[in-house]
Parts: sequence; C-alpha cells; structure tokens
Amino acid sequence: GLTTRLQNVFGKLRGKGKLSEDDVNEAMREVRLALLEADVNFKVVKDFIAKVKEKAVGAEVQKSFTPGMVVVDIVHKELIELMGGSQAKLAKSNRPPTIVLMAGLQGAGKTTLTGKLAKLLQSQNHKPLLVAGDIYRPAAIKQLEVLGGQIGVPVFSLGDKVSPVEIAKQGVQLAKEQGNDYVLIDTAGRLQIDEALMEEIKQIHAAVKPDEVLLVVDAMTGQEAVNVAKSFHEQLELTGVVLTKLDGDTRGGAALSVKAVTGCPIKFASTGEKIDQLEAFHPDRMASRILGMGDMLSLIEKAQSNIDAEKAKDLERKMRTAEFTFDDFLEQMEQVRKLGPLDQLLDMMPGMNKIKGNPNFKIDEKQIARTEAIVKSMTKAEKQKPDIINYSRRKRIAAGSGTSLAEVNRLLKQFEDMKKMMKQFTGMMGPKGKGPKGG
Ligand code: GDP
Ligand code: MG
Repeated sequence: GLTTRLQNVFGKLRGKGKLSEDDVNEAMREVRLALLEADVNFKVVKDFIAKVKEKAVGAEVQKSFTPGMVVVDIVHKELIELMGGSQAKLAKSNRPPTIVLMAGLQGAGKTTLTGKLAKLLQSQNHKPLLVAGDIYRPAAIKQLEVLGGQIGVPVFSLGDKVSPVEIAKQGVQLAKEQGNDYVLIDTAGRLQIDEALMEEIKQIHAAVKPDEVLLVVDAMTGQEAVNVAKSFHEQLELTGVVLTKLDGDTRGGAALSVKAVTGCPIKFASTGEKIDQLEAFHPDRMASRILGMGDMLSLIEKAQSNIDAEKAKDLERKMRTAEFTFDDFLEQMEQVRKLGPLDQLLDMMPGMNKIKGNPNFKIDEKQIARTEAIVKSMTKAEKQKPDIINYSRRKRIAAGSGTSLAEVNRLLKQFEDMKKMMKQFTGMMGPKGKGPKGG
C-alpha cells in the first residue's frame, strides 16, 4: 500500500548523511508513483511534487545534519496542507437550529452518518432532530428510525407519500418548536448522479437554506469519489465532505484529492458500521498515518478514554521489568479489547501494519473465553514463568481446559508476540511512559 511504499522511500533517505540533488529527485519520483498508484488525482500529484521539491531546495536539505528527516518533514507538512491544513469543524448557526443537509450517492453511507452524527452531537449536549427525507429507498425511513431509537434521538417522518421538500420544511419547523438545536436531514441517493436527484436536493436546499451541506462519499471508490464530489459541488454548494468506509481497503486517493479538487474540506471520517465509528477528520493525523508514523494521537486519545490508567501503568511497568505473567496477559487482553478492533489499533501504530496479517493477533470474543480457560488450567508457577511449560505440561493444560494442544501452543506463541508488541509500544511511549516521543 501507499504507506509501505512511502516508508521504503524515506527509509532509504533517512540512512544517508548527505543527500545529492539526484537522491531527492529519485525519492520524489518514487513518491509520485506511490501517490498515483494510491489513486490520487494526477494533477494533485503533479502540484504536490512541485511544491515539495521547491521547499526541499529552499530548506537547504544538503546542509542539514539529517537531510532525510528534513525531506520527510516537508512531505508531511505538504500532505497536511493538501488535506486542508487544520481540522474543519461542523457548522454551528448563531440562530439555531443549525440545519445539516446530507447529500451523496446511494450506498455512500448517508443514513448511517445521520445516525452517527446525531450520536456525536448528543454526546456534546446538543439536541438533534433527524428528518427522514429519503422516500424512495424501501425501508430508508425505518432504517433512520431504528438508528434514532438506538440512541434516543427523535426522528421526524411523514411517510413516503409527501415530497421530501415538504418533509424537510416541516422537520425544520418542528425543530424550532421543540427546541432542537440541530436538524439533520437525510436524503435519497441514486446509483449515479442524475438530474432528478440533483433537482430534488437543490429544491430542499432552497427550501431550508442549510448551514451545512455534507457530501457523503465512499472512500473505497478512490478517484470516483472525487469525481462525484466535483459534480455535486458544481450544482450544490457543499460545505464539507465526509469520507466513509475508511475501515475498508482504501488506497488513500480520496482523502488526498478531495480538498484539492473541490476546495471543500473533509470534516468527518467514518470507520465502520457501528454507530460510534465516526471521527473528526484531522489532516495532521491522516498525514502521519499515510506516512506510517502511526496515528499516535488518536490512539492516545482512545487509550485515555478507555483504559484504566492505574492498571495500564502497572502493566506497563511489569512489561518493562519482564514481570509480565499470564494473569497480566488476560488483563491486558481485556484492556486492549476495550479500545476496539485490534486491526484498527494496529493501523494506528507505527510499523505495526506488518503483523496485521498474523493470525496470532486475531482476537474475538469466543477466543477470549477459550484463552481464559487455558490460563486458568495453568498452575501458579506456570502462569508466572511460562518458560517452564514443556510438552507434558501443555498436554495437561489442553486436557484441563477442554481445548487442544494446538490451541495451547498458539496461546503461548501469542503471549510471546504480545510481549514483544507491548515492548515496542511502551518503547514508543517513551522510556517511562511519559508520552509519545513524537514523529
Ligand atoms: P445511504 O444509501 O447513503 O444512506 O447509505 P447507508 O447509510 O444505508 O449505508 C450503506 C451501507 O454501507 C450500509 O450497509 C452501512 O452499514 C455501510 N456503511 C456506512 N458507513 C460505513 C463505514 O464507515 N464503514 C463500513 N464498513 N460500512 C459502512
Ligand atoms: Mg439512505
């Protein structure tokens, strides 16, 4: 993927004490190819490379002690600029309610986003009202009602016999009467951009004059997502883009091109089907992620809100001093599990994408129960010093836990891998867990 390719390019540069102009040119050629392969818009790539080259000359890379790092830093900063620089926030009207209109093709994730955004706003003490403006897709109204029900947010609907324009107008009116400070209007999408779709959403726009028009695009479609954004923007003034399905196998093209092509900032990133899998889009974090620096900030934020600080500290100390036992392992699994799917966590950690494919790192609920059974079948001594668990002990543990020898072996291997991984992780957090060392 893009990250691996860029890591290779910069890995070569970093090792060098001096960079010739040829070194820089060669690196830029490779960066260019990597970006094109990641489905970044051709013109965006061209401008990007030109800017980086210009800065690289200006920064007198050759004279620096660590020229490779200077180049990486320039690329990092330009990536951030490319995605809009700072974080673009959701609009907030001085005269509530703030009206948010969702636009996008069918299946992009509009209805899901409407629910997610409502949950996010609710957690910030807002009182959103959802409006069911998709009267065409079977069960679209029901889908929104279910989402609203899940989080206890009201959903306004007039069924599928009233025009979406009328539904939107009445929804806004109701919000004013009820004192809802945000109105999120879900709309219909089509498989492709067509006139009827555009006409309808333009009419809704004219009728309610939204403060925010969010275009929802599927990041997995790469440049196609950017083309969709461009067409929508030409017809309907967008105020923000939301990238969905960033949890999937996206190549990064959409995230890197949307702002440059449309001038519209990305405001949110959706990373899964669950209602809480929505993040504010941070260009700096995304840039770090793309460069394989890991998204330590997101990870730390997640960890802070989910991990028991005292326990984590204790575990961290044990890990450093090699006191880490199987009891700790179980606890660690619990803590890590609270952070969310391990796959996503690994994506955020520098250098961790390599072990992602490793089956030893697949953690699921059932497996946790079996793991627990295995650990409980160990003697105290075995838990403390897994090294003593020889073949006959493994057989006994397998029988005792109702699992198999293979499973016991796998767990012991996993334990070792986990220890290694946590060592790497705590290493990154600084020698005494004082926070990240930075870039
Ligand atoms: P709409 O037609 O634009 O309203 O799209 P929906 O909200 O109905 O979403 C279409 C499908 O995409 C549903 O199955 C959603 O669960 C799924 N979906 C939406 N957002 C995401 C996301 O961020 N990640 C993943 N994996 N699936 C998503
Ligand atoms: Mg929908």
